[in-house]
Amino acid sequence: MGLKVYIDGELKEKEDARISVYDHGLLYGDGIFEGIRAYNGKVFRCKAHIDRLFDSAKGIALNIPIEKEELQEAILQTLKANNLSDAYIRIVVTRGCGTLGLDPAKCSNPQIIIITDSITLYPKEMYENGLEVITVPTTRTSHSALSPKIKSLNYLNNIMAKIEARQAGVVEAIMLNSAGAVAECTGDNIFIVKDGTLITPPPDSGILEGITRKVVMELAECASVKVKEQQLTRFDLYIADECFLTGTAAEVIPVVKIDSRQIGDGAPGQTTLKLLEMFREETHHNSIIK
Ligand code: PMP
Repeated sequence: MGLKVYIDGELKEKEDARISVYDHGLLYGDGIFEGIRAYNGKVFRCKAHIDRLFDSAKGIALNIPIEKEELQEAILQTLKANNLSDAYIRIVVTRGCGTLGLDPAKCSNPQIIIITDSITLYPKEMYENGLEVITVPTTRTSHSALSPKIKSLNYLNNIMAKIEARQAGVVEAIMLNSAGAVAECTGDNIFIVKDGTLITPPPDSGILEGITRKVVMELAECASVKVKEQQLTRFDLYIADECFLTGTAAEVIPVVKIDSRQIGDGAPGQTTLKLLEMFREETHHNSIIK
């Protein structure tokens, strides 16, 4: 038996889980999504992810046709059907089928899709030795265009940034905002450590407010590490003692080189390693955050 996918209220075999070519999720990237993890049979920060999904939907005036509780049930049901206790969960909500014109008012039947599978963003060595990243020309969407807080099905800026990184021979890109300040990576938030303080760009710097970002900030507080949300420039990155990225799929991953410049002593830093260990504890064993 193959993998089952939840679609339009039913569990279907992966091969049979399809949407129409007239769905505006496909035609225009008109829809929203979430990436969530389950660890040891528990959905990590489920409420926060579901709340963010509903906020994204509201942001694009899309009405999700089920209640939050039903969605949570559907996630658990999909995990169970696939016998998964550790998984990456992808929720997608599309605008639904419409005409070949843009008008969402002509769309009906938004599709709710739940995929439960595994995901490996980076090889194990990169977690041990750290990533090399670069800043790229493509900027994050500005608030005046489309709020970067909306996790929409339109990730083209971020995909362009990923291509720019790949073309330069590295696996990840740091995206700036339209004012030239550091925003985030293509699917991860960024942190630096400077003189013992953990610093990350503030919510209004053009970022998706990561749920992993919040967990890591809370863990840092538990470890008595000073945490600051502060605008960062490329200069701040270059003089940082440590750097790491956070995201649901990537979890916590050290960065050791930015724009060909070595960060700190070129190895994952002590604070980074401590937070990485605490994050693993938080997700897999006992909750540190009360
Ligand atoms: N930024 C962007 C652009 C993202 O798509 C994501 C999620 N993949 C993140 C940051 C990290 O957010 P979270 O920790 O909630 O997964």
